[in-house]
Amino acid sequence: MKYDRIYNFSAGPSMLPLPVLEEVHEELFNYRGSGQSVMEMSHRSKVFQGIHDEAKADLRALMGIPENYKILFIQGGATLQFSMIPMNLKKNGVFDYVVSGSWSNGAAKEAARFGKVNVVANSKDRNYAYVPDVSDLPISEDADYLYICENETIYGTTYQELPNTKGKILISDQSSMFLSKPVKVSDYGIIYGGVQKNVGPAGMAIVIIREDLIREDIDESVPVYLRYHVQDKGDSMYNTPNCWAIYFCGKVFKYLQSIGGLEAVHKNNVEKAKPLYDFLDQSKMFKGTVDKKDRSLMNVPFVTGDEELDAKVVAATKAAGFENLKGHRTVGGLRASIYNAMPKEGVVALVEFLKDFEAKHG
Ligand SMILES: *Cc1c(COP(=O)(O)O)cnc(C)c1O
Repeated sequence: MKYDRIYNFSAGPSMLPLPVLEEVHEELFNYRGSGQSVMEMSHRSKVFQGIHDEAKADLRALMGIPENYKILFIQGGATLQFSMIPMNLKKNGVFDYVVSGSWSNGAAKEAARFGKVNVVANSKDRNYAYVPDVSDLPISEDADYLYICENETIYGTTYQELPNTKGKILISDQSSMFLSKPVKVSDYGIIYGGVQKNVGPAGMAIVIIREDLIREDIDESVPVYLRYHVQDKGDSMYNTPNCWAIYFCGKVFKYLQSIGGLEAVHKNNVEKAKPLYDFLDQSKMFKGTVDKKDRSLMNVPFVTGDEELDAKVVAATKAAGFENLKGHRTVGGLRASIYNAMPKEGVVALVEFLKDFEAKHG
């Protein structure tokens, strides 16, 4: 590959689109005649305000975000949202969670600091190898919201259909599927994601929140930075924002639009994941760990069933220039994260390698 780049299958931070990296490189020392890098400029400057406004407008167009939703850029990654959500949405102090893996489990645990958490469904019985049935959940009558992690980065599952929330607000952690396919924003109260999985450099979350959920009348003890109301009023610049991430993500929004928008991105992702899943389905050595119906297009965990052999495969892939394929310790085996920026050739090359490995060691 150009610049001697590797195929990086990391779950995040992960590959970024090369055309965007090149553009950033081009602008690094002197951003469009401003005489400075974006890293050096005041966040209160006209130039940066332009970058910020354009990024928001481009994301709104790309995702089709309705006018009654706000876009917030907040530091602290996706993890900070685990607590910001219950802190800001607490009315009755009852929070319903679907636990489909480590990330929703972590979010539920954090919410329990602020109220009563009801786990209305979970898939722990089979090590989170599937998404629980969410068609008729025992939603709490006084629940402030229903929370899901829509794509489980570690276990490699994804929702094919959204839960029946029975009128409650739906909150979705989309960190590892953000901008990987079109979503209907109006189905949600909040969509959020850490950007380092599929959009940009680490250190920021994008929060898309329905206006009426941004409340001023929340608990006095909530720190000022952690109030959606303050973030919104300050247009994500209550304090110095992650200017670099905003700039970079803005470029990715434009890039995704230029390649046909999210429909085209999704089509690419379907075509890209197919050779890997097809291989796993016919392989005698490797096997995907997730129920077919719930498979993620972004994160693909697979195992041989023999830990020693798993380790051997991981070492062999690394030696062949495929990086970060070691599975998460809770699943073992291997995991290929194949986000938007992973080219199809990378997946095809990996499959060829695994086929060859199986032929030699099977
Ligand atoms: C990575 C990840 C997180 C945590 O993101 P940070 O930005 O590191 O806080 C949360 N949820 C999901 C689904 C993730 O993949």
